[in-house]
Amino acid sequence: MNLTLHLTANCNLACRYCYETHGTAHMERETALSAVDLAFGYPHETHGFSLFGGEPLLERETVEAVCRYACERAAAEGKRVRFKMTTNGTLLDEAFLRFADGHGVEIALSHDGLLQDEQRVTRGGKPTRQTLEPIVDLLLKYQPNAVAMQTVMAKNVGRMAESVEWLYDRGFSRINTAIDYRRDAGWDDDAMAVLKTQYERIADRMDAQFDDRRPLLYLNFLSKIAAYLNDRPCLVCKLGVRQPSVAPDGAIYPCNQFLNLPEYRMGDVWTGIDRKRQTEIYRASLAPEPDCAGCAIADRCRHHCACLNFSLTGRMHEVPPVQCEHERILIPVADALGARLYNRRSARFLLQYREDPLE
Ligand code: SF4
Ligand code: SF4
Ligand code: SF4
Repeated sequence: MNLTLHLTANCNLACRYCYETHGTAHMERETALSAVDLAFGYPHETHGFSLFGGEPLLERETVEAVCRYACERAAAEGKRVRFKMTTNGTLLDEAFLRFADGHGVEIALSHDGLLQDEQRVTRGGKPTRQTLEPIVDLLLKYQPNAVAMQTVMAKNVGRMAESVEWLYDRGFSRINTAIDYRRDAGWDDDAMAVLKTQYERIADRMDAQFDDRRPLLYLNFLSKIAAYLNDRPCLVCKLGVRQPSVAPDGAIYPCNQFLNLPEYRMGDVWTGIDRKRQTEIYRASLAPEPDCAGCAIADRCRHHCACLNFSLTGRMHEVPPVQCEHERILIPVADALGARLYNRRSARFLLQYREDPLE
C-alpha cells in the first residue's frame, strides 16, 4: 500500500511558483504512526510512504519516527518498505543523510539549476543556490542517483536546457522538469515554441551523454520512450487507490490536489478507508477525457492525471489546454531521441530495453 503523508504545508522558502498555502497545520507524530499502521493493515508485500510538504524536513522528528516505526514493522512482519521524500535541501545535513541511508529513504532535491536564485528564494527574498552548494555535494555523496527536480516558468523557459546542463555538470544524472502550470503562468505560443527548442537541445545533450559512465537521464523523455517501447500507457491514474493522501489531521483523500475537500474525504487513519467511497472515486476517475477521444498519442500523454486536471480546470476529466500543448511538444521530441538512440545502437539503450523492441 502506498500513502502520501502531508506532514506540513509550511515551508522555509517562498518559491515564485509555489502553490502551497504555507499554513501552520502539521501532522502529529501519533497521526503519522497511525497512517503506518493503516498501511500495514493491508496485505501488500511492500508499503511505500511519500513524505510530503511544504518542506517535510520542517517535521524532521516525525519523518524519522515514521521511518523507524515502518522499518520495525516491516522487519517483524517480513514486508518491504520504501520511502520517498522531495525536499528543498536547505535543512538537509549529514546526520539525516546517514539516517536516510540506513532506512532506505530516497531523496529528490528540488533545484532549479541556473534559475535557482531567481525562482527559489527564502521567505525574505534571498537567493539559495550558494547555500545549497555543500548540501548538493553531501546528497550526491550519499545518493549519487538522487533526482534533481527542476521547475520552469514560462518567462524563464529560454534557459531551461542550459539549466538542465548545469544540473548534469553539477553531478546529477537523473533530472526531471516540471512545468509551472499555474493559471495565467504565461504559456503563450511564443513560450511554447521556445519550450520545443529547449527540449530539442536537451535531447541532443542526452544523446551525446547517454552511453557515458555517468549518463544524462532526463526523466521527461525516458517515461515517454518507455511507454512506447513497452506498449503500455504512460500513466494509469487509479485515483484513490494508487496513492491516497493523508492530511495533517489524519483524514484521507484520493490524491494531493483533493486534500481537505470534504466531498472527496474517504476516511481517516484511525477508522480506515471507506471502501465504498474509494471505489466510487476510483470508478469516476476511469471515465475517458472527452477532448482526447481518438488522439493518436493518448497512451503516451499524461492527460489522465486527475490531480492536474482538477487543479487547473476544476474537473478531473477536463485537460487544461496548456497540458495538451505541452504533451504534443514533448512526445515527438522524446520519440525522435528514442529513434536516434536505437539507430546508433546505443549500448545502454539496447541493454535497458533488453532486446530490439522496434524490430
Ligand atoms: S520549496 Fe518552494 S515550491 Fe516547495 S513548498 Fe517550499 S516554497 Fe513551495
Ligand atoms: S491524480 Fe495524478 S498524481 Fe494522483 S494518482 Fe492519479 S495520476 Fe497519480
Ligand atoms: S495530447 Fe491532448 S488530446 Fe491528446 S491525449 Fe493528450 S491531452 Fe488529450
